[in-house]
Amino acid sequence: MSVHPSSWGRVSEAHGERDAEGVVGSSCRFCGLDAPGWQEPFHASGDHNDDQPGNVVSSCVLCHLSQHLDRPRIEEEARLIHAPGLSQAVINAIAREVHLAFVRRGKPLPIGELPWLEIERELRASYAAFKVLESLAGTARHRFGTMSPRELGAALLLSRRAGGAQDTGGLRLLPLGRYFRGGRDIYPDLLRGMIEIDSAR
Ligand SMILES: [Zn+2]
Ligand SMILES: [Zn+2]
Repeated sequence: MSVHPSSWGRVSEAHGERDAEGVVGSSCRFCGLDAPGWQEPFHASGDHNDDQPGNVVSSCVLCHLSQHLDRPRIEEEARLIHAPGLSQAVINAIAREVHLAFVRRGKPLPIGELPWLEIERELRASYAAFKVLESLAGTARHRFGTMSPRELGAALLLSRRAGGAQDTGGLRLLPLGRYFRGGRDIYPDLLRGMIEIDSAR
């Protein structure tokens, strides 16, 4: 269950070494992010019981999210958008930079509807970029009848069981600025971790 097979850009060579838990390295194989706390094991074949080295690569939480449309709180974590010209990894990188800019300035996530004139000048470009991506949810709904990751996941599952196509036709996930682990939204902490490292450099 995934939107990733058709939507990832070129996958770079795996970097980093496997640690004791079998999780690979410190950087995401898909978007290249190298930051502590962000990496999770990504099962390339989709089979989470296959922990062989070749099947498990390091992935940041956002890139891993795209493989799990069945996550319990996916509707709060992401929205479907139609963006055939952008790889999922690029969308994740843009969304993360936008979220980072907001958190740096002490703004809450997820980003809501903000009156343009009340947005700090430094955040306007980030806000505009995010809103453009968000507006592509309208296209997803128009063309595919849904902007719900869960509904797409269910449709893909049915299609796979019926032996049908898995083509998601340019559908991507837009991370909204939340990531739940053990029932808790850890995304703000992950971003703050990046900010602390930046300021220590
Ligand atoms: Zn990533
Ligand atoms: Zn997984």
